[in-house]
Amino acid sequence: MRSGASLLQSMPEIKKTQGHKTKPKQSKRTDVRRMKVLYKQRKYDVSNFIRRHPGGAHVFRNLEGQDVTPFVHLYHPCLQKPEEVLKTLPSEPMRCTDHVSYSSSYPYDYTLYLELKERVRSFVDAHLSTSKWTWRNWFRHAWMGVVYCWLAFLYLTGPTFCVCVFLGVWSCCFLSSVCHEALHNSVSRTPLVNQCLGYGMLPFLSPSLWDVDHNILHHGHVNTDTDNDFALFRSGMGRNSRSHPYRPWYRFLYLYMWPLACLVMMKKGIYKSVRCMGHYSKHADADSIAHCITFVAFFGYVGIVHGCFYPLLVLASFGLYFVCITQVNHITANNTRTDIDKQDFCINQIESSTNYRVSALSSFLFFGLNYQIEHHLFPGISTEHHGRIAEIVQAFCAEKNIRYNLKASYPAAFRDYFLHLVDCSKP
Ligand SMILES: [Zn+2]
Repeated sequence: MRSGASLLQSMPEIKKTQGHKTKPKQSKRTDVRRMKVLYKQRKYDVSNFIRRHPGGAHVFRNLEGQDVTPFVHLYHPCLQKPEEVLKTLPSEPMRCTDHVSYSSSYPYDYTLYLELKERVRSFVDAHLSTSKWTWRNWFRHAWMGVVYCWLAFLYLTGPTFCVCVFLGVWSCCFLSSVCHEALHNSVSRTPLVNQCLGYGMLPFLSPSLWDVDHNILHHGHVNTDTDNDFALFRSGMGRNSRSHPYRPWYRFLYLYMWPLACLVMMKKGIYKSVRCMGHYSKHADADSIAHCITFVAFFGYVGIVHGCFYPLLVLASFGLYFVCITQVNHITANNTRTDIDKQDFCINQIESSTNYRVSALSSFLFFGLNYQIEHHLFPGISTEHHGRIAEIVQAFCAEKNIRYNLKASYPAAFRDYFLHLVDCSKP
């Protein structure tokens, strides 16, 4: 399996820079660059299909050369239709060398997942008018957007400590809810709406960087070493599991983990969003340029007029809040157990996650991720509906003897997270 860094190396763009100073002649003129993806050990040429893809062409933009098997499962109500389409496309068996090129694939068994998905699909068809946002959810986000714009206005015209902290936290709640769901295609049935809302990530992050780090590497490979969010040990800065290698400085892990995670988020916004230019796709390049422009406009202006402290405070508040909400769902002793069956897609998605109960009034502060298990299982269904789906998932887990991690409250989940960090700080 591979990291995000090695995913970069599997992309055709980067191969151009590795000792090939002269580009192949056909690359400029002959036009159609073939777009190939892997599905169940076969390589498919989807070049002529992506524009007809009902979920939008944009979902393919960073998947060139990748194994899309997990994503075909995650985002389609059933496999019949996508598999019928794939049969009509040019294909060839995966060669043994492809294992090296596309090693972000993971040998999952989907049997249980398909069974669970069938039950959820029947429920959605029978009881929900839509699996995307309802008008109520649109309305809720509209007023959140008004508050966000108001805070952004205050920040641009006269930043103060409180305004910056509130803006950081609120933008995390609002944008994580809107853009996170939009980039999962779970806001609207119209792909263009999802694509446009995804750009709300700017100026905090490049949407394409999020797409690769979150949608592809994280959701397709939860809590494995392919998951950048999990495999922190690769940087030597910390570890999220007792099974990861130990370094002497990890003894202070539980103290420095929050500021560190916050810095990692800031690094994604300031450095990685730009660095991904030239590595993923042309679309990602455009996203990086858009990120640079909006970042300089939003943070540079205030930085020059009022000092760098305020922009950094917004970014730090955003990062710290994001980490506090998202880490407790993934990084606990239960979620990082070495005996979780990583070969079974369904079991891995469920047992690598934790849910916690929150009140209806405060749910927007957690941007739907209090139902992390259901989100890992069905990212294409809006988090608005996850509370109802959770009952089906819980019943399924009880029947199949799968551990369903549910905490009574956020503080209880946070306590588990903290205790796990303390545990990881020991050799
Ligand atoms: Zn997600």
